[in-house]
Amino acid sequence: MPFACIYVPNFPVAAASRAEPELQACALVILEGKPPLEKAIAVKVEARSHIDNFELQTKVPGIRIDAGVTLSSYDNGTGNVVHEEYWEKVPLPEQTTFNQWATYTGDESSGRQLFEDMFYRFFFVHELGHWMQDQVLNQRHDAKAQTAKKNAETARWQYETVANRISVAWWREHGQAYLIRLVDDFRKIQRKLPTPVPPGEDARAFFTRAYDKLTEDPNAYGWFQLQMVISAYEEQPAMSFQQAIDKLPGENYDK
Ligand SMILES: [Zn+2]
Repeated sequence: MPFACIYVPNFPVAAASRAEPELQACALVILEGKPPLEKAIAVKVEARSHIDNFELQTKVPGIRIDAGVTLSSYDNGTGNVVHEEYWEKVPLPEQTTFNQWATYTGDESSGRQLFEDMFYRFFFVHELGHWMQDQVLNQRHDAKAQTAKKNAETARWQYETVANRISVAWWREHGQAYLIRLVDDFRKIQRKLPTPVPPGEDARAFFTRAYDKLTEDPNAYGWFQLQMVISAYEEQPAMSFQQAIDKLPGENYDK
């Protein structure tokens, strides 16, 4: 028994431009079925990626829904592709983690809803942040360019933090209510997780040192990812998206 049938011409485009009203002024093509919103976000972020005093050549990254166990990632140095994943394809142990985490939030009704809220918006722009970091590192020709590139391979905390600053600034400007709610959920989830940092150790140093081991434990790795987002969100003074990306050519990942 259908409730109503409405024919909307070019439905994905209509849906995307309704969700992101600024797109109504642009020529817009939706290249993939799911999730059309992500392609729209990528086009919009790329359109804003003009860095002060830096000639940046960008190409909108491709989006592939094949991230598997990593949930979301960007191919540094190769491919120019952001990888995301469908909830149905998220491995069962991780689905169980998200289902558990959703119960801590009080407003995310399911693991799926929490996952989509995190990965199709916040962490999607975080991956676009990695995309921009990578573009800038490959297009720098200053005296510190090579050092920055080398440091970026091991400076895990700083590399994640720069991407988080970009995503935090983006959502402050393009979805503040969403960002406030998400960070509030992150705080609630994080409070329930055991602290993986050994007593007396610095969280940042430990994350870098134990990175490979931590990625095997969703709660420990999750604790750090949530902590890094919360820290970027709490930084004062808050950076605008433009300020966040203008810092990229001077970022040497040496902290
Ligand atoms: Zn990242």
